[in-house]
Amino acid sequence: MKLVSYEEKGVSKVGELIDGQIYEILNCNTMIELIEEDQEWRKSEAPVDLGEVELLAPIPNPIRNVLCLGKNYKDHAIEMKDKISEEVFIPKLPIYFTKMASEIIGTGAMIDSYSKHLSSLDYEVELAVIIGKKCKDVAARDVKNCIFGYSVGNDVSMRELQMDHFQWFKGKSLDTHTVLGPVIVTADSIEYPPALGIKAYVNDELRQDSNTKHLIFDLDFIISDLSRDVTLLPGDIILTGTPAGVGMGFTPPKYLKSGDVVKCEIENIGELINTIK
Ligand code: MG
Repeated sequence: MKLVSYEEKGVSKVGELIDGQIYEILNCNTMIELIEEDQEWRKSEAPVDLGEVELLAPIPNPIRNVLCLGKNYKDHAIEMKDKISEEVFIPKLPIYFTKMASEIIGTGAMIDSYSKHLSSLDYEVELAVIIGKKCKDVAARDVKNCIFGYSVGNDVSMRELQMDHFQWFKGKSLDTHTVLGPVIVTADSIEYPPALGIKAYVNDELRQDSNTKHLIFDLDFIISDLSRDVTLLPGDIILTGTPAGVGMGFTPPKYLKSGDVVKCEIENIGELINTIK
């Protein structure tokens, strides 16, 4: 099942996407409500055409910071040699950080380059996992029961802020730099653990090309480890890391500039397409 958040005539709604048509879910106003509420969804009988509405990020206003992993694909860890550290650093445990986003943007929205004063805008395609229920100390074997669904994320990054401040947080929290969508595919629609092709293009040039089966720490590990002594909540978003091919990984770096179009895609989920402002 593919779920969307969208705006129709100025009103935000949630719905199910079937063959290019959206059936509004009438008894939930937001995706968070839909994830939280354990009730049967009442769907409109008359669908609206996907082209007639504005798609939003499936979770436009997250309940709290987006949870992220750094260096969770080996090839990406290797490409960062000499960029961040002199040695190849393959983590022995997950590296966690968060992105602050009061508003997450969706497909079609513009990513701000802040090019008047910054010049190292980068993209990172990532599998996004949406937590489905309140959970803590989740055993690895129970992880799949805590997942509501999956989406495509672009962990947009301003590398100079990341480097100059020796952290990820500010460098990844600029407004419009958290991108999610176009849909949430519910967990029952994807074989577990997900082994899906994951790609990013800049102006039709293929830059990232991998498979989510290559995660260093898989979902069983991430969610059981992250939830140890920490409560996860319905609607929490986990960005699981990016494969090789980010702009910073090239010599010289291939950063994004105004007018570039970034397309992030994951097999069986969809395409997230954004233009740089
Ligand atoms: Mg990332």
